[in-house]
Amino acid sequence: TPPKVVVLGGGAGGATAARVLRSYGGPRIDITLIEENRDYVTCFFSNWVIGGLREMADITHGYDRLAAAGIRVVNARAASIDRDGKAVVLADGSRVSYDRLVLAPGIAFRYDTLPGYSEAAVEKMPHAWKAGPQTLALRERLDALDDGATIVMTVPAMPYRCPPGPYERVSLMAASLKARGHARSKIVILDGKEKFSKQALFQEGWEAHYPGMVEWLPPSVHGGLKGCDPDRMVIETQLDSFHGDLVSVIPPQTAGAIAIAAGLAGEDGWCAVDPVTFASAVDPAITVVGDSSKAGEMPKSAFSANSQAKAAAFHLLADLAGRAPSDPLLFNTCWSLIAPDDGVKVGGVYEPKDGALAAKVSFVSKSGESAEDRRKGAEEAAAWYAAIVADMFG
Ligand code: FAD
Repeated sequence: TPPKVVVLGGGAGGATAARVLRSYGGPRIDITLIEENRDYVTCFFSNWVIGGLREMADITHGYDRLAAAGIRVVNARAASIDRDGKAVVLADGSRVSYDRLVLAPGIAFRYDTLPGYSEAAVEKMPHAWKAGPQTLALRERLDALDDGATIVMTVPAMPYRCPPGPYERVSLMAASLKARGHARSKIVILDGKEKFSKQALFQEGWEAHYPGMVEWLPPSVHGGLKGCDPDRMVIETQLDSFHGDLVSVIPPQTAGAIAIAAGLAGEDGWCAVDPVTFASAVDPAITVVGDSSKAGEMPKSAFSANSQAKAAAFHLLADLAGRAPSDPLLFNTCWSLIAPDDGVKVGGVYEPKDGALAAKVSFVSKSGESAEDRRKGAEEAAAWYAAIVADMFG
């Protein structure tokens, strides 16, 4: 009988892994994809939706073509992983057994790090850090603001999903306000770190496109987050208090809940993996890719998850065929829009080094690039979106 490979999580990591296993493993492998949602809404480009550049339908994708390609798609929530019995236990109690499990459950949120904040507070202070109804809610609240309104956004310390994501979101919120003539509105960022991805480019761009509108405050200025009051729409820091007409708290994150429950994450909340094979450091029958994994210098991005999934799937195929693993090269590029026609990027090529993944090459857009280059940057981002979505969903 063909070996059973189960992929848990149908996002950037899982959908890619399932498709690579199917395309290159052929009928020699039995592949099941377990995903709780019928449709996947991409976080990538969800900022474009918030800014009014795309619609929810543009970032929503189904699994029909994976099923048509011969992947058994199980639309169910996985409740637990029985590592001893090598089976995923679904919410209805049924079991899906595996010889190998590829785990890509994304992230979970820590609601316990800010006094006053809770899962219920998300209703009032949405994070939209998993795309879906909150994405739309954030856009609707943005669109309902009057000129002179204040937006307050908290951003966690590293590591978290999509390091430049919060700053792209601020940029596209500012672009939306500017397009409506709201020159008196303000966006205050209460950051959990002293510096951030593509900082010089974002700050230069904010001054150029939205002068005086964006205020970025690191912990050395606001003193650190102290608490929040969702009813009064207030964030307290050690030194000050910030009221927003729109408040968004992006909480600190961990590996997906199921990875933690299965004992695959360390005390830091993320899953250590072998940098060549992406095998879990805890359980060699489980491969962990995407945001849940600790991938050294690779940022938590869809591009990274897609690249890791390919490397891990090729390794798995080699391993199942009795061949030795070869060192992978991994890739990432994160594009961000500072304005609808001002796209910048940061990225690198990564290789296993001293037990982790290290950047072999890295690059970042430069300040002062021509408007034409930046327009091309935005076009590149759109082309990348089309390409990764085709890679994931066929
Ligand atoms: P996910 O894509 O989140 O997939 C995990 C899947 O597992 C989900 O579909 C979930 O439903 C499923 N799942 C979890 N637990 C279970 C369970 N128990 N049972 C069944 N199913 C389960 N990245 C980029 O490369 N470029 C960008 O421009 C970019 N922009 C971003 C903008 C924003 C605002 C945000 C928030 C993120 C952005 N990202 C971007 C990051 C990117 O979305 C993530 O890094 C990527 O989705 C990670 O892939 P993953 O497979 O690890 O997790």
